[in-house]
Amino acid sequence: MNFYNIMKSITRKTLLYKSGVEYADYCIYHVEGCAHGCRFPCYAMMMKKRCGIIKSYREWLQPKIVSNALELLDKEIPRLKHKINFVHLCFSTDPFMYKYPEVTELTLKIIERLNKDNIRCTVLTKGIYPKALKDTTIYRENNEYGITLVSLDEGFKRRFEPYSVPYKDRIESLRYLHEKGLKTWISMEPYPTPNIIKQDLMNILRAISFVDKIIFGKLNYNTTSKQFRGNDLFYRDCTDLVINFCKANRIELHIKHGTQNVDSSKTENIFIKNLAKNLKYDIKQPNIFPE
Ligand code: SF4
Repeated sequence: MNFYNIMKSITRKTLLYKSGVEYADYCIYHVEGCAHGCRFPCYAMMMKKRCGIIKSYREWLQPKIVSNALELLDKEIPRLKHKINFVHLCFSTDPFMYKYPEVTELTLKIIERLNKDNIRCTVLTKGIYPKALKDTTIYRENNEYGITLVSLDEGFKRRFEPYSVPYKDRIESLRYLHEKGLKTWISMEPYPTPNIIKQDLMNILRAISFVDKIIFGKLNYNTTSKQFRGNDLFYRDCTDLVINFCKANRIELHIKHGTQNVDSSKTENIFIKNLAKNLKYDIKQPNIFPE
């Protein structure tokens, strides 16, 4: 099947880029736009609008696949592979976009191509992971697979992540990879304030207690959240809860900068090879994670 006839496509001049996200290394950007249409708002969409690349939310919802992505990788990997610790897919789109098999197919080919050159991948989605990833003869077992999860309330999901996968299905697809022995993680970001949704953070944590790592971060760029008067206190209580939960369940943790008023720079290397295994000692350091 020539799937590029179904989605619109674009070509790009480069694919791999050095990320500005604190816990990432290199990133990849093989789809422009994202049909999940998050309304937190989506930072990637805000940036694309600001740069004049897209004009509207409606346009963002119509993703275009990068048709020369694999050719670009063939050129860029030999030049960059000695600099790359790992490649993250993706911050500016979703690599397993719901109901877009074309995106899934290309993402799998990209992971396979990177892994072939011993480049590890960290992956983050609000979609469903294909079961094919369990085949570690094709996809390396040191890849790390994550989902974004900031609630279990499907009503909240319909408001803020309208076209993404239901939470239950997202968790189950991640649990499947965990049960196959693969590394899994959660991006619990942007976590909403109680004037947006009243919910029990512990219930969310219990639902994903099987994962290896959690990234926790506050909600930014949202006017309702900013209006919540107890904002600082709320996020301090949340981070205390997450820290204690992670300690009790031996889960590695990074709190995004700006979420709480302490230095969490030591844990921003949570995905760096050979450092990650030492992080369980870091989370006991009182200057990063107060008791
Ligand atoms: S899944 Fe990510 S890239 Fe897609 S709309 Fe939501 S926040 Fe933006």
